[in-house]
Amino acid sequence: MDLAALDRAHVWHPYAPMPATVAPLVVSSASGVRLQLAEPVAGVTELVDGMSSWWAAVHGYRHPVLDAAVHAQVDRMSHVMFGGLTHEPAIRLAATLVDITPGPLQHVFLCESGSVSVEVAFKMCLQYWLGRGRPAKRRLLTWRAGYHGDTFQTMSVCDPDGGMHSLWKGTLVEQLFAPAPPGPFDRSYVDGFAALLGRHADEVAAIVVEPVVQNAGGMRFHDPAYLVALRELADAHDVLLIFDEIATGFGRTGTLFAADRAGVSPDVMCVGKAMTGGYLPMAAALCTSRVASGIAEGGFPVLAHGPTFMGNPLAAAVANASIDLLLHGEWLGGGWEHNLARISLGLSRGLAPARDLPHVKDVRVLGAIGVVQLDREVDLAAATAAAVRAGVWLRPFRDLVYTMPPYVTDDEDLALICTAVIAAARTCG
Ligand SMILES: *Cc1c(COP(=O)(O)O)cnc(C)c1O
Repeated sequence: MDLAALDRAHVWHPYAPMPATVAPLVVSSASGVRLQLAEPVAGVTELVDGMSSWWAAVHGYRHPVLDAAVHAQVDRMSHVMFGGLTHEPAIRLAATLVDITPGPLQHVFLCESGSVSVEVAFKMCLQYWLGRGRPAKRRLLTWRAGYHGDTFQTMSVCDPDGGMHSLWKGTLVEQLFAPAPPGPFDRSYVDGFAALLGRHADEVAAIVVEPVVQNAGGMRFHDPAYLVALRELADAHDVLLIFDEIATGFGRTGTLFAADRAGVSPDVMCVGKAMTGGYLPMAAALCTSRVASGIAEGGFPVLAHGPTFMGNPLAAAVANASIDLLLHGEWLGGGWEHNLARISLGLSRGLAPARDLPHVKDVRVLGAIGVVQLDREVDLAAATAAAVRAGVWLRPFRDLVYTMPPYVTDDEDLALICTAVIAAARTCG
């Protein structure tokens, strides 16, 4: 069977045309931080994964503890409907999420993708205001350069340029956008945000942001003090606050959640990606008792959402094992925080030479995120090929060559990943 030919003929890939213009590499298996290729490419048969499979596979591949958790759950039940039925893996997962996220978050909606969890978060907020007799409050306020998913409502709060809003004019709900947050804290930025919110408070249901790191919208970092300011503004203007921690959650920025850096709690929080260690699709929207009771006390007291695979036991079981491994497993350098500090240091050291390359605008590292930003668009094919020749899997986008390595990456592989990021960045001169 010619897999590559069948793939080209029939299979859509993310953000790709049909038929595809760039052939994807066929991966036959993966273990530790390595992807095994079905066919050698430029003499390379395996690649160190610098992407954690889109920031999810924090424990790498075929981790014995996670494999065992999935096997054990398959032997009990792979799935059962969540309407009218419940089960231990989902109950334990919800209790754990309540335990490890900011205190006020008490109730958990388990769904199958990050985008859907953001949809659910919006629905929670809009229904809250309906319940409170404020139906006009149904718009969302965000800042530019964000990314919250690919479904229509989540697209409406993605960066209006990167999110291709011009393509969807008339289709997307028109939300409110403040400028993208500057990196360092800037009081006048907050004043501008406050003024925008003040003008529209009567129609705004919630502020929604990615805390500390704006990820797919440009890998931008900002001072956690902005989150404190947003919390104050939300309270002062009677709007809800949503943190989308789908990318930043479970340690990626160096703290368990990015919100922990600011010591504030949102009213609704979304998590996903790394929650199952990248094994199975699952995400969650958490909310406070205030939000839940606002919905319950309204004229339509149920949350109007219920996906088929809600609370999937396999995904919940591996999420439980992954979170347990993250928090209580044995890590290089001690606990998980030490391990993340180790990765951060490795990325800072390994990427520093990129500062001297032509066309490099910025090099930045936070937690297990390393970014080289160019002054131009990356040549995706050339940059990817250079990384592959160096033995590493990277997926640059726009003007960014970046890595979000698995947390189990050792220092040697981390250095290799940095070499590959630099090799990829070099192709853009
Ligand atoms: C990836 C991502 C999403 C969407 O999650 P999917 O599981 O791909 O639907 C939403 N928000 C943020 C911040 C993300 O990084």
